[in-house]
Amino acid sequence: MVSPKMLELGKKSSVIREIFEYGLKRKAEIGAENVFDFSLGNPSVPAPQKVTDVINKLVSETPAEVLHGYTSGPGDMKVRTKVAEYIANKFGVDAKAGNVYMTCGAAASLTITLNAIVEEGDEVIAFAPFFPEYRVFVEQTGAKLVTVSCKKDDLQIDFEALEASINKNTKAVIINSPNNPSGVIVPEEDVIRLAELLNKKQQEYGKEIILISDEPYRELVFTGEKVVYIPTVYDNSVVCYSYSKALSLPGERIGYIFVSPKMKSSADVFAAVCGAGRALGYVCAPSMMQYVISECLDDTADVSVYEKNRNLLYNALTDIGYTVIKPDGAFYMFVKALEDDANAFYERAKKFDLLIVPSDSFGVEGFVRISYCVDTDLIERSIPAFKSLYEDYNK
Ligand code: PLP
Repeated sequence: MVSPKMLELGKKSSVIREIFEYGLKRKAEIGAENVFDFSLGNPSVPAPQKVTDVINKLVSETPAEVLHGYTSGPGDMKVRTKVAEYIANKFGVDAKAGNVYMTCGAAASLTITLNAIVEEGDEVIAFAPFFPEYRVFVEQTGAKLVTVSCKKDDLQIDFEALEASINKNTKAVIINSPNNPSGVIVPEEDVIRLAELLNKKQQEYGKEIILISDEPYRELVFTGEKVVYIPTVYDNSVVCYSYSKALSLPGERIGYIFVSPKMKSSADVFAAVCGAGRALGYVCAPSMMQYVISECLDDTADVSVYEKNRNLLYNALTDIGYTVIKPDGAFYMFVKALEDDANAFYERAKKFDLLIVPSDSFGVEGFVRISYCVDTDLIERSIPAFKSLYEDYNK
């Protein structure tokens, strides 16, 4: 009666959601202040005041049929032009409105891009650990998700493993830097090496391999580490951007796809993006939010809180004795579980009302993810619980 695939997806919520739901139940039982919920990647800082000001101005000055009306499928032309100008100025690439497609956030950017470029039988490579929805997004197209584990010590790209995984069916590779769940940024030399490897493999197999840059965390960087703009180093690239994290607007569903004009088949890829957006029923990205972001292209929420949280948590956990992969950006921290089975570690952490996400759903074993996009006060209060958990293992 229903699609078995969709039924399974609908019934099986993500591990992160399950933990979050458990947290809600537990907060009702013992009080919200006693539960240290590090499960979700929901920005904790408000959108900048400018967003509110722009919304107020738009609401009072824009005719309703424009403000709330449909835009064309790829987005309002003035908005796309402004976004393209921003990309061209900021990253020094040749961006035009015709390369920009406005979307409902990074999830839509990814699903549209994947549907536009892959077919049944194709393979899409993601580096593990990866955002768990990649599996859903890729498999829904009929393609296969191939995961390539990063190096265990620093969670950077393992080039030998990557090269061994590329074959004639490889259609795309997804890079996500700064990364969810690890917070790791891929250094410039590795991005260049990746581009060289993909160029070599394109020649070898006589086909295009598209590098998809999923970058909702581009602006969340704490170390001065450069986040390379992929189209500057690799021609066959598509950028999937979102304002969910940079402007703290996750519920407003706004982002864009930038199809690099340097790609030989750029016009066809862009047309296929339009086709995929249509086939998936997106119609257009929310019009008011398109107008809002076009006035806030160079703004970000105050992300300094995340940096403060990162420093506090990293120092406290390493002082206690935990092994932590030091995050350069985003608002996630990957911590080595104190036993091989991350699920068992997560269960034991629950005894101390610490809600952290076991790494298995991110495609690696033996770690947990801590989302530190929370009040700094919660982090401070959680430290004794992390200490008790550590001592529980070292009694
Ligand atoms: N990609 C990554 C790596 C993410 O972490 C997220 C959300 O957390 C998304 C994509 C989806 O973001 P959006 O809310 O913009 O759809």
